[in-house]
Amino acid sequence: MAFINKILQKTKNKIGDRDSGGSTASTASPEKMSLHHLDSPTDGVPGLPMSPSISQAYTTSLSQPHSAGHQQHPPMYSTATTVPSQKHVVPSNAPVLLPTSTNVATRAASFSLGAHSAANPPATVYAGHVQGPYLSLQQQQQQQQLYSQHQNYQAYPQQPQQQLSAAYPQHHYQQQQQPPPPPLVPMPPPPLPAFDASASAIQNIDRPYEDTHVRLDEFEVFRTVGTGSFGRVRLVRHRTNNKYYAMKVLKKGHVVRVKQVEHVNSERRILAECDCPFIVNMLGTCQDRVNLYFFMEYVVGGELFTYLRRYQQFPSPVAKFYAAEVLLALEYMHARNIIWRDTKPENILLDHLGHVKLTDMGFAKKVVDRTWTLCGTPDYLAPEVIQAKGYGKSVDWWALGILIFEMIAGYPPFYDEDHYRLYEKVLAGHIQWPSQFDPIARDLVSRLLTADLSRRLGNLHRGSADIKEHRWFAEVDWNRLAAREIPAPLIPPQKVEGDTSNFDKYPETPETYGDTTSLDPYADLFLEF
Ligand code: AMP
Repeated sequence: MAFINKILQKTKNKIGDRDSGGSTASTASPEKMSLHHLDSPTDGVPGLPMSPSISQAYTTSLSQPHSAGHQQHPPMYSTATTVPSQKHVVPSNAPVLLPTSTNVATRAASFSLGAHSAANPPATVYAGHVQGPYLSLQQQQQQQQLYSQHQNYQAYPQQPQQQLSAAYPQHHYQQQQQPPPPPLVPMPPPPLPAFDASASAIQNIDRPYEDTHVRLDEFEVFRTVGTGSFGRVRLVRHRTNNKYYAMKVLKKGHVVRVKQVEHVNSERRILAECDCPFIVNMLGTCQDRVNLYFFMEYVVGGELFTYLRRYQQFPSPVAKFYAAEVLLALEYMHARNIIWRDTKPENILLDHLGHVKLTDMGFAKKVVDRTWTLCGTPDYLAPEVIQAKGYGKSVDWWALGILIFEMIAGYPPFYDEDHYRLYEKVLAGHIQWPSQFDPIARDLVSRLLTADLSRRLGNLHRGSADIKEHRWFAEVDWNRLAAREIPAPLIPPQKVEGDTSNFDKYPETPETYGDTTSLDPYADLFLEF
């Protein structure tokens, strides 16, 4: 612990990426608009039964008891004072220390970086910044109640489960005598949905402003489909073309308070720059006195996280499909000198055909050489980030290793509810491999989770090619994958366009958007919105 403290204190003066202000007024002038729908038109799919394990083939690995609750990985900020609630966190089937049903919520909420009790969590000094607890105990209990109330909404109909089991070969560690798994082309393409969502249709909008500016009053607002660190993401519908989009709302005051101005501006620039089938497409942005608004294509399938927690573990070939598409997205960003820095299953969405769409570019950054910002999600942090050594694209390859491990094992490799111990484990590099972990995947993950940057796969002179040529990916036809021609293992259920049943339910607050009534105190900070 002393060692970690020493290392963490060393980071104190090295954290970069501070925000810088601008000087002129905002460009967008959305008209005042109120929230007139809290529910989506298709918001009625509760009560589906909890899905059992993926298939009989996986009963061995799925037989461990698990709690219905799950937690998500909260992000970490280099400069946050108090960080709001995040869903992520801890898997219910990790091998040791693991969350009991009574402490799941506590762990989700007491996410700060020092040792403290959940009942009385002190602010913790980490890398020179005071970071308070995410939620009070009372809030944690409320959150837990909320999760249990909405359990049904996390359930899935039989369709994806059947497709998963029929589609993909059994995990080959359970079939030792059998030949290697067939190519990652498991099933005939699923029937196309009734509407054409193959393109984002973003280009069909007759834009009133320059390319990436939209007007708030062009959209009808529906229910919340996700919450982020500074606000929420809602389903919206364009009044003219009737297509659905996701509107991410960030509260300016909060962004400023937690010193994330530069990250948010960078998120906008990066989303505007990226045009990749595996990254969520941005339609445009605007702002009012209170909020910033991102309008993005609506990714109807929800978070990979939800499916992973539902199924607990993915068979190796299923994990391979998602890892391969994520790899292509990372490759795309790295080719533009963008580091994502926020790999985790919550930020990987599935579109209507089950293909990957990365969302949340809040920590993405253009980095030609190195950067020092301490940000990301603890479970996914590379050792060089923890040690504040200065880092580059290598951190995304480390995080890919964590992701593959988490998909196959069902929990991240260095999981610990105490973040100091988590970082100690990361630095020690000691991984406890589940006995049935696919040995070929294990080889790849070990090479990705290599602290020595001169040996980490992806960080060598051949870059991502080394990863793509690893034996675990041997059967992947990368060209077909890039063209999204390889059918996905899971087709998210979607009854109609704008279906929100693949997302958790969130308590709604009656918010008014489009307030331009008084002077904007942050007018000079978000000039590109
Ligand atoms: P973010 O603040 O970007 O991390 O988004 C928070 C959550 O909102 C995500 O984890 C998703 O569940 C949801 N979300 C974000 N972007 C989209 C999108 N384009 N389509 C559908 N859901 C989204």
